[in-house]
Amino acid sequence: MEIGHFGGNLIVIKRTNIKFVHKKDSNFYLLFIVVFTAHSVETIKTPSTKEGDNNLIDDKNRNDDGTSISDNVFDVAIIGGGYAGLSAALLLGRYLRPTIIFDVAKHRTSRIHGYLGFEKSPIGDVVQKAWKDVLQYRSVTRVEERVERVDKDHDSNLFLITTTTKKDDGLTKDYAIKRKAKAKYLIIATGVTHVQPTIKNFDEYLGNGVWHCPHCDGFETTDKKLVIVASGNKDNQALKYAKIFLGWTKDVTLFFQRPKDGDDDNSTMATGGGDHQLTDGQKNEAMTLGINVIESDGISEIVSDSGANKMKGVLTESNRFYEADVLFYHIEQIIQNEIAIQLGCELDEGYVRVDKMQQTTIPNVYAAGDLDTDRHYAILASASGALAAISIYEDLLKQAIKITKDEGTGGKKEEEEGGKNN
Ligand SMILES: Cc1cc2nc3c(=O)[nH]c(=O)nc-3n(C[C@H](O)[C@H](O)[C@H](O)COP(=O)(O)OP(=O)(O)OC[C@H]3O[C@@H](n4cnc5c(N)ncnc54)[C@H](O)[C@@H]3O)c2cc1C
Repeated sequence: MEIGHFGGNLIVIKRTNIKFVHKKDSNFYLLFIVVFTAHSVETIKTPSTKEGDNNLIDDKNRNDDGTSISDNVFDVAIIGGGYAGLSAALLLGRYLRPTIIFDVAKHRTSRIHGYLGFEKSPIGDVVQKAWKDVLQYRSVTRVEERVERVDKDHDSNLFLITTTTKKDDGLTKDYAIKRKAKAKYLIIATGVTHVQPTIKNFDEYLGNGVWHCPHCDGFETTDKKLVIVASGNKDNQALKYAKIFLGWTKDVTLFFQRPKDGDDDNSTMATGGGDHQLTDGQKNEAMTLGINVIESDGISEIVSDSGANKMKGVLTESNRFYEADVLFYHIEQIIQNEIAIQLGCELDEGYVRVDKMQQTTIPNVYAAGDLDTDRHYAILASASGALAAISIYEDLLKQAIKITKDEGTGGKKEEEEGGKNN
């Protein structure tokens, strides 16, 4: 139950705790309970200073006395600080737009390929440099918190973003802290996550002999013995995936990682699920292309060549050994689309549907990066984040120009300049 604002903060009292008020000295106990159960939902403030003051967009957001019409409202909130989100933030910083970017900062340790200017750079270094680039612009605020939900306030036409983090003071470990931010536009850039198979020594080789993205790391299979772990063959996906590697190597063995005992065949568990059988036509195709298919024996362990410190092969559940230099996996990905779903954005096979400027089916909500496409590359994610930022800037500018023209014509609206309908 929200009971009001105090010093810019929203005070919240948990309704359930109030029932413990003692009858005899209820004032004392009520006060006691309020002190211990009330917590403030802090509103994240816009930066007090930023570059640039003499521009049309900020002008139209100011009262006559110079104060902001919409106090502590960011122009843009970006959820996700990967390639898409950071790329959008970089442009928005350069457009002088008050922007808040949320990220829970879990980044990989492997090296990046196919990203012009950064070939083979450690991903951590690239991301760190990107944050540095972005945060040199004072209009951008970084918040290292998970966005729990986003609501649209239809009266103000603003997005209300709620974050949650665990308080880590050693005393109240499980106590979640919530913060709120308000924004006019939203860019969702939360990406996808990849389910990994349960194979002994898998983590040891991840990024160094074990990969999942053929277009990023397929080069590593050049003339090598490749084993592939796929979780099922729905829509012929496993075979399609295996075929991508034929441009690098003809030595391909495709395994189907079978569900563990007790796993439901339709489950989305780490060991996969669903149909792992190939049709006769698919088996013939695989045979013609020289792809060795093992349908009934999953990989249980990666075996090391300890002397050479590299992969020697794989051991299967039935204890058979297959020589292998490289392992690729194609299990399942989880599209991080919860926030888009909360806002009612339309999806396309789980991906958020966007137009050519990255706008979703909900006005002022954009999506960028892996979240809206099955083409998962850093450079494409960056490009889509940039497109979203350009589109928002153009929209804000268009509105400011329209207001200026309307004011110039004494309130007579210029129909042809009509802003976006939202
Ligand atoms: C192992 C691996 C290797 C790869 N190698 C390459 C390569 O060599 N070259 C290449 O071009 N591509 C590569 N890719 C693909 C590339 O990493 C992606 O295409 C790219 O990262 C997509 O960027 P994104 O911004 O859409 O998502 P991401 O980079 O995944 O960023 C999403 C961010 O959002 C954050 N987030 C999610 N939910 C929330 C929330 N609720 N609140 C706050 N933050 C949230 C996440 O923590 C994450 O930081 C690789 C991918 C993987 C998994």
